[in-house]
Amino acid sequence: MPDIEFRSDMTVELVRSSAHDSDVLFAARVSTQGEQTLESAEAATEADPKRDRGLINYLMRDRHGSPFEHNSMTFYVQAPIFVFREFMRHRIASYNEESGRYRQLTPVFYVPGADRNLVQVGKPGAYDFLPGTPEQTALTAEEVRTVSTAAFESYERMLEAGVAREVARIVLPLNIYSSMYVTMNARSLMNFLSLRTKRADTHFPSFPQREIEMCAEKMEDIWAGLMPLTYQAFNANGRVAP
Ligand SMILES: Cc1cc2nc3c(=O)[nH]c(=O)nc-3n(C[C@H](O)[C@H](O)[C@H](O)COP(=O)(O)OP(=O)(O)OC[C@H]3O[C@@H](n4cnc5c(N)ncnc54)[C@H](O)[C@@H]3O)c2cc1C
Repeated sequence: MPDIEFRSDMTVELVRSSAHDSDVLFAARVSTQGEQTLESAEAATEADPKRDRGLINYLMRDRHGSPFEHNSMTFYVQAPIFVFREFMRHRIASYNEESGRYRQLTPVFYVPGADRNLVQVGKPGAYDFLPGTPEQTALTAEEVRTVSTAAFESYERMLEAGVAREVARIVLPLNIYSSMYVTMNARSLMNFLSLRTKRADTHFPSFPQREIEMCAEKMEDIWAGLMPLTYQAFNANGRVAP
């Protein structure tokens, strides 16, 4: 029996990208200037950054969305399966996930960290979450660890008895970690961020589950570094995907 690992965090790494503010400008300026080269768009950006900032802001504000599609970011994500279920509802993305049929799953399980709010108040669609009592926090950690360990022991017993991986895995709970590559462009990422982060300063507040928000926050930080003007315009215009 391998050691069972419990984690309370998410992994998000950028593995490949072609995503720059100049890609947005390049695509948008074909409307008014005809054929562009990436070099001329980059040169124009260096020559007149204020104009570029203005154009990107205009595109965002007036929801001209397609110039934000000519770029690509591939992320490697490790998160529990209940997060992937929510993640993969975002159809404007490409996914490849590890297989529980073709490989034996590793015993890594999510357990809420001590800082994870546990008590739900409010109404459906707009819940707030408050810290649990020390007893609730301890109970949650204990129950998650007990059930995850028992489930993985069952899984192992079935594999040892010759049962196929695709059958044995059905006993594993949703808090087991999986891994995937996900590729998005800036437009689809903005839609994802608008729905999967909770911010006070948005036109359309969302109330995502904290664990997918932890992934979204890491993706947002990476994207902000790649496309700073687009990122600023997204925030300045209420975090609405154009
Ligand atoms: C807080 C929260 C709670 C949620 N609760 C539930 C729930 O209880 N049950 C549940 O089932 N889901 C739930 N969802 C999932 C939600 O309904 C969406 O499926 C998910 O957020 C993906 O959003 P999306 O369709 O905009 O993204 P994407 O699939 O990436 O689509 C991006 C955009 O492309 C366009 N688009 C994509 N596909 C189509 C299409 N077929 N037809 C027309 N336009 C399309 C739309 O403009 C869409 O906004 C919840 C989501 C959030 C954020």
